[in-house]
Amino acid sequence: MQQALQNDPARHGMTAEEFRRAGHDLIDWIAAYLEGCEEYPVLSRAAPGEVRRGVEAPLPQRGESWEAMWRDVETLIMPGLTHWQSPNFYAYFPANASYPAILGELLSAGLGVNGMLWSCSPAATELEMFVLDWLVDLLALPAHFKGAGVIQHTASSASLCALLAAREQALEWRGNAVGLAGAGVRLTAYTSDQAHSSIEKAVMIAGLGRENVRLVKSDDAGAMLPAHLEQLIDADRAAGCTPCFISATMGTTSSLAMDPLRAIGAIAARARAWFHVDGAMAGTALACPEFRGIADGLDLADSFCVNPHKWMLTNFDLDAFFVREPQRLVRTLSILPEYLRAAQSDQVVNYRDWHIPLGRRFRALKLWFVIRSYGVEGIRAHVRRHVALATRFAHWVNEDDRFELAAPPSLNLVCFRLRAGDAPSEALLRRLNESGKIHLTHTKLQGRYALRLCIGSPRTQERHVEAAWALIQRTAGECSS
Ligand SMILES: *Cc1c(COP(=O)(O)O)cnc(C)c1O
Repeated sequence: MQQALQNDPARHGMTAEEFRRAGHDLIDWIAAYLEGCEEYPVLSRAAPGEVRRGVEAPLPQRGESWEAMWRDVETLIMPGLTHWQSPNFYAYFPANASYPAILGELLSAGLGVNGMLWSCSPAATELEMFVLDWLVDLLALPAHFKGAGVIQHTASSASLCALLAAREQALEWRGNAVGLAGAGVRLTAYTSDQAHSSIEKAVMIAGLGRENVRLVKSDDAGAMLPAHLEQLIDADRAAGCTPCFISATMGTTSSLAMDPLRAIGAIAARARAWFHVDGAMAGTALACPEFRGIADGLDLADSFCVNPHKWMLTNFDLDAFFVREPQRLVRTLSILPEYLRAAQSDQVVNYRDWHIPLGRRFRALKLWFVIRSYGVEGIRAHVRRHVALATRFAHWVNEDDRFELAAPPSLNLVCFRLRAGDAPSEALLRRLNESGKIHLTHTKLQGRYALRLCIGSPRTQERHVEAAWALIQRTAGECSS
């Protein structure tokens, strides 16, 4: 029987030898791709349905070779990609990849451990706790976040967990832990009209009711107006609502505006509401002492999230989430069926109680590799280079009287537009993206169209930004003629 199985002519998966060969080739290919990815049109030109039609094939009854799969990657998948690692990618926010992080991902996949409980792989939990403490040092976060971090998939999931804990806390404080529906309590949540949509989505998911999220007005730069927050809270209180959650943004998505954390935190404390700070993108800038002014008031926060998978050289996905008192999170999210009871529960952290999924990958490895491989100096240099390039770009925009800044430049983001108005600015963006040479996205600021240029790729050099500006100027000429 053993003999028969081994001689089975049908191929199933790969042998270790085939894996070695394909794996070495793949590493070589990835290095060549990353070094050369500026040659590709940044934005994919695939039409809807095109990739699907290309890969369409009958379900394979017998295993196929790596060579066959790889051919399809090159011919069918590559044309359907937008090249996020291109030095000419200035859209959205970056999703940095780096060699040490890629190796961390690969190692995590190779080890294939599930770190849901400490006992499931002690190293997975202990390294994560340790690396997140390093992040507290690197970003000079408040000391109460030491020993209180957990890796989440995304900022969206982190903010949702913060809101869930805030909801439970508010219900308990009202002597009412029976849950939302039976409680007869109307909980309200607050964030600015410039906050990321994930906050509103969290309110929807948590069952607070979308009508109970208040969008606080922001100033001309896009920062939350604390006076308006206070007004909204007072009005809700007077109407019998219980304010439970205030989310401030350290670096809004549209214009990287910084909410005034200290003023907001003081209001949250008076309202006895959970104070969350979303620093998904800009949080990485805290690695540099000169940018730490944006964290003034973070010491008041109950929770904070930052995405090393955006600007800190760590492949997607990895959000770092910190909570003032992790017990509040654990009380909210722990549930203990018999099959997950573990002997050491009172001596160790079991991260499955710190987020929504049960199972979890060993993500800490890639962040550990990144921090060790770049060091504090390397991470600072990465951030500083982008901020310097963005500052220069903003200067060029100011010098050309066809253009104007649409918001004060902030760190590595510049929002700008054609003075000629929304339609020409929109046409400019379309043409730039169609050129394949650069990729930008847009937003609306005070109701007006704005192009966003976010510099965040480890490969973006001065020459790329110069070429981007030259292309923008040239294309603007075509748009207005
Ligand atoms: C990008 C971003 C998010 C969403 O991040 P995910 O990790 O994709 O959920 C949330 N908030 C801010 C401020 C962001 O910049």
